[in-house]
Amino acid sequence: MATERTLSIIKPDATSRNLTGKINAKFEEAGLRIIAQKRIKLTKAQAGTFYEVHKERPFYDELCDFMASGPVVVQVLEGEGAIAKNREVMGATNPAEAAPGTIRAEFAESVGENSVHGSDAPETAAVEISYFFAGIELVG
Ligand code: GDP
Repeated sequence: MATERTLSIIKPDATSRNLTGKINAKFEEAGLRIIAQKRIKLTKAQAGTFYEVHKERPFYDELCDFMASGPVVVQVLEGEGAIAKNREVMGATNPAEAAPGTIRAEFAESVGENSVHGSDAPETAAVEISYFFAGIELVG
């Protein structure tokens, strides 16, 4: 399997509960390398652009408000099959359906406030990484 890079976001519900280190430990234990990371606060407009693909969904406004409600940690994870591996470590969108031991099973509060984001395909990973990071900031 090829080495891939994926965009991860530790969401406001997790940063507010001081869970950045515990979540990063899950990534590293799974063999994912954090090759770039920064803590930022998104505006609602920035969150809206990032989640533009969900614009027509009923929860879009709530999602953008939530993502702008506190600091997030944006990061690039690298590893063999990193996109699928990260989705596995994250667990299902709804924490009630997330497998035991996954980040969302352990930490997420609800289907909306679910602690982490992860890219879902190589094309979206490339777009999402370039939304937050310049190439010079990625140190593999
Ligand atoms: P993901 O790829 O597992 O993050 O899931 P999706 O791409 O389907 O949804 C993106 C994000 O929108 C999720 O991670 C949630 O934060 C949010 N979301 C999804 N479904 C719902 C919902 O029914 N209600 C609310 N409030 N937020 C949702």
